[in-house]
Amino acid sequence: MKSLRQLYKIGVGPSSSHTMGPAKAAEGFFADHPNADKYKVVLFGSLALTGQGHGTDRAIKGVFGNKDVEIIFDKESPCVHPNTMDFYAYVGDEIVEKRQVFSVGGGAILVAGESFCPEQEIYPHNSFAEIKEYCQKNNLRLWQYAIQYEGEEIVDYMKTIWQAMNNSIEEGLCQEGVLPGGLNVVRRAKMLVTAKHKESPQTHEDRIVSSYAFAVGEQNASGGTIVTAPTCGASGVLPAVFRFSVEHHNFTEDDLIHALLTAGIVGNLVKTNASISGAECGCQAEIGTACSMAAAGLAEMHNMSLQEIEYSAEVALEHHLGLTCDPVCGLVQIPCIERNAVAAMRAINAVSLATFLTASAKISFDTVVTAMYETGKDILESYRETSIGGLAKLYK
Ligand code: SF4
Repeated sequence: MKSLRQLYKIGVGPSSSHTMGPAKAAEGFFADHPNADKYKVVLFGSLALTGQGHGTDRAIKGVFGNKDVEIIFDKESPCVHPNTMDFYAYVGDEIVEKRQVFSVGGGAILVAGESFCPEQEIYPHNSFAEIKEYCQKNNLRLWQYAIQYEGEEIVDYMKTIWQAMNNSIEEGLCQEGVLPGGLNVVRRAKMLVTAKHKESPQTHEDRIVSSYAFAVGEQNASGGTIVTAPTCGASGVLPAVFRFSVEHHNFTEDDLIHALLTAGIVGNLVKTNASISGAECGCQAEIGTACSMAAAGLAEMHNMSLQEIEYSAEVALEHHLGLTCDPVCGLVQIPCIERNAVAAMRAINAVSLATFLTASAKISFDTVVTAMYETGKDILESYRETSIGGLAKLYK
């Protein structure tokens, strides 16, 4: 598995696979051909179908500055990967390079014909079962395991990550008005915080944790700075659960960092063994993974056992199996923003269940990750970030 630095990335929304990944691919290509006369970028699959709503063209053009760049949305041609881009550099009318790049989720890219660099793999284990065995043998918690392989510097990195997550909540809570993109979705984070309904302690908690998830989701949808956890679209779940828990249980900064590291291991396992891309496996891969990460981190904050952490993460992912990705108008707004809030509440529920039911658990975390991947491969393309099925098709 790779470093948690590859999972948690500070970036600009609304989509890690549709803006951060393409921008990174464009940066690499432009760096290799800074003096070409013109460039062409052809987008395929989900990038072609939802790229306009997600701002893929803006993200790519932003890299090339005032150069001559043509962007083509090829919605018809088949493609090897659901997020495929072909980059062309021209001198005169001659193509000096054509490069195919895949945006594989969470802002990560893969150039066709190249494999991931083996030196970037810093963890020797690739399954929860292996990690659990190692931790039990060496009396380690998951966060200690992460530090063992990442080095102590990862703690400072996590502090920076938390600062950015918290900032996205703070900034989102201050905003009002309508989100960009034409759907006229009203920002509701601030509305949730200030709502004055009669409520029980439970609904109060749900409202507050939801307001934090909405705040990040709305920042993401408006091109604000967020942290991929594991993606831009699902970036509100983990900060909402962690901030709410810190405020309500007096957890320390150390508890928070340990939770982020624990959640990171869980997210990394999904990224390694399945996918965190909505275009590849539907929303179960994004929101499901975010919920699983948040549940594992929260269980760590409560100092729960490794088995309880595993069960929390498993339950959180299991009950997102089959969740489709059908963003209305190709924007990361409906159903995405509310979905972050629902998943945040679900992560808290998963940890509550783990308190009582871990001993009777039947499904391992590794099994549910495999099931999620296989389910994702079976989900029709119309429900994998193409905006041609489900809510996106029916919304008028
Ligand atoms: S529906 Fe889920 S996977 Fe699809 S864009 Fe929204 S958050 Fe991402």
